[in-house]
Amino acid sequence: MSYPKGLLAAIHYFSDLDRCHDFMVAFRWPNGVTCSTCGSADLYYKAKRHLWQCKTKHPKQEFTAKVGTIMEDSPIGLDKWFAAAWMVTNAKNGTSSYEIARALEVTQKTAWFMLQRIRAAMQSEGGMLNGQVEVDETFIGGKARFMHPDRRAEKITGTGGMGKAAVMGLLERHGPDGHSRVRAKVVKNVKRKTLAPEVREHVTPGSEVFSDALKSYDDLNADYIHQVIDHAEKYVEGQVHTNGLENFWSLLKRCIKGTYVSVEPFHLFRYIDEESFRFNTREINDGQRFAKVVAGMVGKRPRVDRRIYDASVGKGGGNMTSKMEKDETPFQRFERTMRHIVSVPKKEVERRIAEEREQRKAKRKANS
Ligand SMILES: [Zn+2]
Repeated sequence: MSYPKGLLAAIHYFSDLDRCHDFMVAFRWPNGVTCSTCGSADLYYKAKRHLWQCKTKHPKQEFTAKVGTIMEDSPIGLDKWFAAAWMVTNAKNGTSSYEIARALEVTQKTAWFMLQRIRAAMQSEGGMLNGQVEVDETFIGGKARFMHPDRRAEKITGTGGMGKAAVMGLLERHGPDGHSRVRAKVVKNVKRKTLAPEVREHVTPGSEVFSDALKSYDDLNADYIHQVIDHAEKYVEGQVHTNGLENFWSLLKRCIKGTYVSVEPFHLFRYIDEESFRFNTREINDGQRFAKVVAGMVGKRPRVDRRIYDASVGKGGGNMTSKMEKDETPFQRFERTMRHIVSVPKKEVERRIAEEREQRKAKRKANS
């Protein structure tokens, strides 16, 4: 299959809805369309409506090329979805919902909705990191920068309150394609019991791990060839440095500051995923990068689990949710609803809900 290679080609390519549809079909079903429910290839095709009907009797006999993807329940056409995905993936410093709204002639709310889902599709791929791996952490948001160092150290070792979030990163220096690749995520704090398990989860034992002198990394010595560079003294000693990650942090911060007016702490992980994706695919061309995002998009099915939905929009029983509803602004409620719509695995939604609950607890404790 051939992909558009640059912006102009992409504009031409996505201007035709039929072509978008053919692209999606070829992409999703390279060996022929099969029923999304039972897998049968015995289908009627209603060309005018771009719709298939399974000949086997079961619920959801009719389906479109959007079925089972992050676009499934959206009335937005594939042409706009693809164009938006193109913009997000190929803008060096990110794309705002305002830019997408203007370019695609959709409302900003719609553009925002699309962006959130596309970012969900950009979440990094699995697999363990090997060889030489840098580990480092940074803080985003809040006013930590302006605080006195002592006070900052005191505040930051805590729960990550004060409107700033701790972000941890791992960078494999020579990835599968010979280039470094990064994995980053928001963490609760920078304590040992938070950071060390992250390293163990993502890095093959026996790898070389480079970190700064943060005590939280002390007990990595047993499982890794762990080398430390004390940033209070110097930043580089031969191979021992975390400059790859420093570079990534600056790209991430530039993206957040330059393109996005403000980032709600809750959504920070999406921006991190987006920037990680951009970083990890920096050596391939726009068309290949776009193909990668579409692969991510078709792989994520919106969840329809009622229980999760209720929890994510703050409905239903439980003290936690009613408490949350009371504290929320209308905008936060809107965001919470959107969280259902972006396709995040059930487990992940549950984890985030628990985390948020913890943060609220900690905040309440700090306030009392
Ligand atoms: Zn079927």
